[in-house]
Amino acid sequence: MSTSRGSASRQRPQKYQNRTAFKNDLHDTSQKTKIINSLDITGVCKRCKDIIEWKIKYKKYKPLSAPRKCVNCEQKAIKHAYHMFCSKCSSEKQVCAKCCKPVESNDEKEDEPQNPAVQTMLKSLPERKRRTILRYINKQESGKISMAHLETMISELDKLGLDDDLDDFLSDDPPSSDNEDEN
Ligand SMILES: [Zn+2]
Ligand SMILES: [Zn+2]
Repeated sequence: MSTSRGSASRQRPQKYQNRTAFKNDLHDTSQKTKIINSLDITGVCKRCKDIIEWKIKYKKYKPLSAPRKCVNCEQKAIKHAYHMFCSKCSSEKQVCAKCCKPVESNDEKEDEPQNPAVQTMLKSLPERKRRTILRYINKQESGKISMAHLETMISELDKLGLDDDLDDFLSDDPPSSDNEDEN
């Protein structure tokens, strides 16, 4: 008869526990690993950057032993492993050097999709009203609002007055009924 009490709640801590995050240079202090770890991944899209960084982290990254031929200009100008385009071609064509897909430049991101009249109107509004309307616009699938719609909203908000809870007015959810508790 077994006397062991298989307990579900073990008090003893786990014997082998990772105390630190995985480090690829813990047991490998070679110059090669150092150089690879210090590589700056540029000229690629976010997705490819993640892939390459993953390869570096888990030591799957294999640097090029010799420059590789660019698929575009056919020069042996690629110095980075996994790249298909040389850095000159990828920056000229605005494509990711690895997957060759167009890279959208972050600084030209269309952040203000409204038409200019709506923009001007919004800017002229008092802070609180503007924020309420912007929040409403952001909830819309298109992320836009027409001038007519905006004017209606402004007049509705004016009727309500700024002291009213504008969020309730604009909320898609039915108003909460806190004082009607069910027993
Ligand atoms: Zn090239
Ligand atoms: Zn890519």
